[in-house]
Amino acid sequence: MAYTLPEFGYEYDSLEPFIDARTMEIHHSKHHKSYVDKLNVALEGHSELEGKSVEKLISDLDSVPGKIKTAVCNHGGGHANHSFFWKILKKDVDCEEDILDAINKEFGSLDEFKEKFKEAALGIFGSGWAWLVVNKEGKLEIVKTQNQDSPVSEGKKPLLCVDVWEHAYYLKHKNKRPDYIETFFKVINWEQVSENFRG
Ligand code: MN
Repeated sequence: MAYTLPEFGYEYDSLEPFIDARTMEIHHSKHHKSYVDKLNVALEGHSELEGKSVEKLISDLDSVPGKIKTAVCNHGGGHANHSFFWKILKKDVDCEEDILDAINKEFGSLDEFKEKFKEAALGIFGSGWAWLVVNKEGKLEIVKTQNQDSPVSEGKKPLLCVDVWEHAYYLKHKNKRPDYIETFFKVINWEQVSENFRG
């Protein structure tokens, strides 16, 4: 069973004016699709891996043969990360009580969390992702990953993330990653984040 490009469940322009439709369209139909296609090519002839969900695949990279490990890490990670990212984007959703309590406990307040999250996102040299995860000790933690690496590969449970590859913001924000991160805070689907937290 080949991996397929998932639908958003919303339109490309649903996040306007914060994230523009053109960026969403190219990001999904070109960039994400390319990860899916290249993952399928990498897995050709490896029928033992093809039946796994992409999360399962990247959570156990040790079970992937050495010859295709880098390709699975990059393209499997790319597929998993983007699939996760689309779901945590939505306009006009307030932070839910359970996740807000956990954020207050760990970071002091939602604003302090945003400051630290922004700092992490701006601190990534080159391409990668900033994440809010539940770590192995069961605590909320902000982590950064390079390229398409995923915290799932380190046994951490992602709650939310932001893609800081330039393809995620260059059309609208050019080189201004800080502006993009501020904009991102306006389109966090806290309902989904809360669901990820409880799940
Ligand atoms: Mn991307």
